[in-house]
Amino acid sequence: MHKNLINGDWLDGAAASRNINPSDTRDVIGEYAQADAAQAELAIAAATAAFPAWSLSTPQQRFDILDAVGTEILARRAELGDLLAREEGKTLPEAIGEVQRAGNIFKFFAGEALRPGGESLPSVRPGVGVEVTREALGVVGLITPWNFPIAIPAWKIAPALAWGNCVVFKPADLVPGSAWALAEILSRSGLPAGVFNLVMGRGSVVGEKLLNDPRVAAISFTGSVATGQKVAAACIGRPQGGMAKFQLEMGGKNPMVVLDDADLGLAVNAAVNSGFFSTGQRCTASSRLIVTDGIHDRFIAAMLERMKALKVDDARKAGTDIGPVVDASQLGQDVDYIGIAKADGGRLAQGGERIEKNADGAPGFYLTPALITDTTPEMRINREEVFGPVVSVIRARDYEHALQLSNDTPFGLAAGIATTSLKHATHFKRHSQAGMVMVNLPTAGVDYHVPFGGRKGSSYGPREQGRNAAEFYTTVKTAYTQA
Ligand code: NAD
Repeated sequence: MHKNLINGDWLDGAAASRNINPSDTRDVIGEYAQADAAQAELAIAAATAAFPAWSLSTPQQRFDILDAVGTEILARRAELGDLLAREEGKTLPEAIGEVQRAGNIFKFFAGEALRPGGESLPSVRPGVGVEVTREALGVVGLITPWNFPIAIPAWKIAPALAWGNCVVFKPADLVPGSAWALAEILSRSGLPAGVFNLVMGRGSVVGEKLLNDPRVAAISFTGSVATGQKVAAACIGRPQGGMAKFQLEMGGKNPMVVLDDADLGLAVNAAVNSGFFSTGQRCTASSRLIVTDGIHDRFIAAMLERMKALKVDDARKAGTDIGPVVDASQLGQDVDYIGIAKADGGRLAQGGERIEKNADGAPGFYLTPALITDTTPEMRINREEVFGPVVSVIRARDYEHALQLSNDTPFGLAAGIATTSLKHATHFKRHSQAGMVMVNLPTAGVDYHVPFGGRKGSSYGPREQGRNAAEFYTTVKTAYTQA
């Protein structure tokens, strides 16, 4: 049994859940504790008690701990990557890459702990000095989704600790393995008891306890729009009036524009990568391809050719390009959306076939990547997030039309353009209504040292990652002194 970490102790949960390998559903990775609200309460109490001392810990203490955690993650990337691929279903190279990213993030924020910043400046009044500093918030609740089981926890936990907060971390129920492994590393890192707590359990139980407890000063959430809206409402509407600060990273319907002058091979590679890799289960996936008339048919033909070569198989097998969908419910959603797209008039050009068993006879949630052509902007397939290997294509007249289509979405996380025109690339970077814009690159795949996040229905609150993370995890104090 993998237990919850509360106040430095490993505690059994009120119940337990089994972590299943989506590449082979006969493979049970392990049993993981499921906390109830009382256990979440214990974790909040522990974090609250640990905060006064931890918030005054030195930058050197925080650096040493975060740097050592990063070092261990990097040293164990092959083993942790294997666990991640086994529980989530992304391919082994993708999973090892994600672990590497998590290690890098801990090292980045170890450095940030040493650079707290602050300003000392003269007042507008004679004889008065002003200092502007940043302080920790208190206890932060971190709620994460299943699709990046170690990188997203890392990019919330590391900055929270670096700036002196205490953490109650609730990972996604589907993928507790990587979260538990990360918590185990943190439990040996020298953090005082209660500074970091892992509470695995259901969103409606543990998650809601975090949202509603007045001792939790802030909530950082990544997940679906529907849950994000509940988080926002709860944080604002706490009965005692003490609102929680909150930050939401949610869904996407990310466009990738392909212009007539694009390098065809590059455009196809970028579209296949960001549409289908990681089984399309990335918030930054390009699920809408917007292709101008002059290249449209050549682009589709090249996409179909390239897609035929993609190997859908066990996530951990060498040579697999696309692993399984994460679970039966997500698979059902993917298949449903293919049906909706067809019923709305789209053409399933290729893929979308359910594979019950892989090449070795293992039962898993396999789906071949699906390309749906001849779609129009108002169809549901172009407005709602599928979160699977399902990509739709919209034909555009020219660049201006393509730009307008790309912005015609309730979301605004990432957007891409494939073009050899400096003029169009420059214009697109300025006029795309997305938080992250890529030129001649996949929309998915971002650096760990710069801000991450979106606009419109995709995000709310300050950006995550990079130095910008301080905006969320600290509060500003302005102090005046009369000399
Ligand atoms: P989800 O919203 O179902 O769950 C996210 C987390 O919220 C889980 O830990 C869940 O247990 C918890 N939760 C559920 N109900 C809750 C409640 N009532 N109160 C508090 N917590 C609750 O999302 P998911 O299915 O795990 O993840 C997929 C979604 O995440 C997709 O929409 C995807 O686009 C999004 N995502 C966004 C980003 C980003 O940075 N923008 C990154 C990755 C994933």
